[in-house]
Amino acid sequence: MLSSSPASRFTSSAVEAPSFFPEIAAFPREEAFRLVREATEADVRRALAAEAPLEARDVAALISPAARPHLEALAQRAHAVSVQRHGRVVVLYVPLYLSNFCVNHCIYCGFKAGIKRIRRETLTRDQIEREAARLRDMGFRHLLLVSGEDHDEMPLEYMVDAVRICRRSFDSVAIEFESLPAHAYEALVEAGCDGMTLYQETYDRDVYKWAHPGKGPKSNFANRIDAPDRAARAGMRTLGLGALLGLGDWRFEVLALYMHARYLMRHFWQTRLSLGFPRLRNETGGFQTKRPVSDRQFVQLFLALRMALPDAEFVLSTRESPFMRRHLLPLGVNRVSAGSKTTPGGYANETDAGAQFEIVDERPPREVAEMIAELGYEPVWKDWDHGFHDAMSGLAHQ
Ligand code: SF4
Repeated sequence: MLSSSPASRFTSSAVEAPSFFPEIAAFPREEAFRLVREATEADVRRALAAEAPLEARDVAALISPAARPHLEALAQRAHAVSVQRHGRVVVLYVPLYLSNFCVNHCIYCGFKAGIKRIRRETLTRDQIEREAARLRDMGFRHLLLVSGEDHDEMPLEYMVDAVRICRRSFDSVAIEFESLPAHAYEALVEAGCDGMTLYQETYDRDVYKWAHPGKGPKSNFANRIDAPDRAARAGMRTLGLGALLGLGDWRFEVLALYMHARYLMRHFWQTRLSLGFPRLRNETGGFQTKRPVSDRQFVQLFLALRMALPDAEFVLSTRESPFMRRHLLPLGVNRVSAGSKTTPGGYANETDAGAQFEIVDERPPREVAEMIAELGYEPVWKDWDHGFHDAMSGLAHQ
């Protein structure tokens, strides 16, 4: 196991300006509920005819009960917008879990501190090499490094090494780590990391407090919400935002996520945004959600956001069933994970290390790629945009 030096530990970062925090703090749940409640069928028709990007009241109309009879029209618009902006390409990626150690107590997570029944593990550098080699053999060129939060197990040097090791085998290496300070994002970008994903989980501060008890670093709502800003300033090319559906009111989460995306687009227009909407399921870490989002609600929010944010990439993970993935894909999905394991070391070997959550779509990656092709889309393992970007950077330096 790696030892951590004081220099490799992270200090909590002060909120930097500009920040999305004041904007979301000034948007109470009641305002979201009012916008949704007052939406009429005429508002829905206006939103359906509006040019993107949509305004908040249009998004509220599209996720309101008044929009339910219009889902078919919404699906047609979302499909058209998506094909026009993104073509018929779907990128495949895979998560690589580095560690299931965590000091936080998120009530919905199988890695939370204090759970005794799972075996904890942090991959060594050799194990990372083996996992990366296995995933490369499976065809992947896009990798998402994931871990819990524990600086004794995962100091910054370890994160940087993990990125460097994986960058040797992958066109794109992104991270889904905790909220990091600016200097950590700079070091990771320098090592070859090109994207960060950090879902806010919930934009409702009361719900956030309830779902993230204790004194773990993740209990700091403002620090987490400003992490994408720090990553963008450090040069991260892609920012992944999202809400964990099933914690708070889904309509509030959708409006807040939309506002967060618009905020980042205004301030970091050169950065690509990617949005994810993982749905919490019962039994995840023993957690029973009291606010499950139904398939119908999920489709409605997906379509509304697709229309509202046409330039953002939409990600659909293996938390969704093969049925949902097949039906949502033509409506605007740009990236899908496949063959995912949520245990550290789960690809190269059988392991009894604890998993974060249950995978619903367990099909092998090739089968997922075949489904994409059957639907008339091109499954892409390599990031051509990345190659183009590298080539242009090279020219610029000649
Ligand atoms: S969600 Fe992340 S931070 Fe929270 S307990 Fe799980 S691994 Fe730790």
